Amino acid sequence: MSFPASAYLRTATSRAKSHVANKLVSMFLHDLSRKICTSLELSITDARYAEAVEAAFGGNCCYCCQPLEKDRTSVEHLEGMNRFRLGLHIPGNVILACKRCNGEKRRDDQLDQLTLGECG
Ligand SMILES: [Zn+2]
Repeated sequence: MSFPASAYLRTATSRAKSHVANKLVSMFLHDLSRKICTSLELSITDARYAEAVEAAFGGNCCYCCQPLEKDRTSVEHLEGMNRFRLGLHIPGNVILACKRCNGEKRRDDQLDQLTLGECG
């Protein structure tokens, strides 16, 4: 079977366009998040916020409930920051997840329903 070059090119081109659109939406959402945080004097770098997130999930991944490990932890968003989800980088939407769950959720972000772990 020969390589379907034209089908591959069409798919790759639409994937690249989708990537650029997502990047632009993500940049806009980050900028909007900064403005909202500034106007409300909120900060996700605030120690109290970090403690609240840790206390809420007990230092575990919010999806699989496994203990979080250094270098295997991602800052995550309940509502993803992309053109399908339009989540913000603000307290309440920022959570911690293990890298495996973060990767799986990324593929899942186009679905209507997300699955949280029992601890989440
Ligand atoms: Zn996990």
